[in-house]
Amino acid sequence: EISPAARRSAELEAEITADASRFRILTGDRPTGPLHLGHYFGTLHNRVRLQRRGVRLGLVIADYQVLTDRDVADDLDSHVLGLIADYLAAGIDPDEAMIFTHSSVAALNQLLLPFLSLVTVPELQRNPTVKDEIAHSRQAGVSGLMFTYPAHQAADILFCKANLVPVGSDQLPHLELTRTIARRFNDHYGRVFPEPEALLSSAPLLLGTDGVKMSKSRGNAIMLGATASETARLIRGAKTDAQRHITYEPQARPEVASLVLLGALCSGQDPVELAEGVGSGGAAALKSVVTEAVNSHFAPLRAARAELAADPGYLRGVLARGNARAQERAEATLAEVREAMGTVYG
Ligand code: ATP
Ligand code: MG
Repeated sequence: EISPAARRSAELEAEITADASRFRILTGDRPTGPLHLGHYFGTLHNRVRLQRRGVRLGLVIADYQVLTDRDVADDLDSHVLGLIADYLAAGIDPDEAMIFTHSSVAALNQLLLPFLSLVTVPELQRNPTVKDEIAHSRQAGVSGLMFTYPAHQAADILFCKANLVPVGSDQLPHLELTRTIARRFNDHYGRVFPEPEALLSSAPLLLGTDGVKMSKSRGNAIMLGATASETARLIRGAKTDAQRHITYEPQARPEVASLVLLGALCSGQDPVELAEGVGSGGAAALKSVVTEAVNSHFAPLRAARAELAADPGYLRGVLARGNARAQERAEATLAEVREAMGTVYG
């Protein structure tokens, strides 16, 4: 069965086809490490695809959010440059996209205070993604930022008045909060913000080699920039199940289904057909089919990434231009917000 978010995503695709110029994307990633296949099929591929169709694109490198679940942000500079290399290698056009870091756009962060006034503590506490991240946190205690970062994310999206957010399904609760904040702000102070919508891909929750959400921080990811032999080793070690015959049953057999889907997305096949093709070959045959598909699909991206990573000066230039554009835009929105909120904050 189809979820409401997936159904709405299909409608959005039709609306984008009718008029791409109505849409503006803002989405992003934490600079906690290089991007993996979950990012690619969950969101990055949609960003590239929609930019090519004329949707304006903003990408936030959410550096403050690194501190939600750890004490310090290690290797921040190299992770930031690594993300930009991943974006450009995947096909993001650096002349069109506004790529910026959270921390360099001060006016954006100033939206956080009025936004926090618009949500209740229980609303922040019951967020299922936050609960899951607390369960996997590297910290002994839970910081205030862990509970407030979804409101901060609302500021990322709303400062540039984005109305479309291509994300994985872990982000749906956050996007609901962004919509709530936009709606309440508009109700209290007059209309300033759009109510952004999530756009899910056909792989909104790719699983890692251990059978839970593929994630940079959980040691279960296959990176976009991995070598062919690393990829083979990781897929060989991926969790499957005890049934010998391969089928595509996302509900009943999530680990096998996630591998099948990965192979299908990389080879342009239908997942049911791919599974039938492997059939009684079992997990070992499935893994070699998937490895082959991943390695051949990503070979050009991997070559491009290696070249980009060797030119940090160029990557820094892309970021500097994006930061300048984002600063200008955030100042303009902050001025509107002050105007709307009245003279006390003017
Ligand atoms: P971290 O472990 O540091 O939180 P992460 O792998 O969860 O890293 P994020 O930077 O938190 O990655 O997520 C960036 C974007 O990629 C979000 O839109 C998120 O929904 C999407 N995404 C991340 N992992 C997956 C996945 N396994 N499947 C589909 N989408 C994903
Ligand atoms: Mg995450």
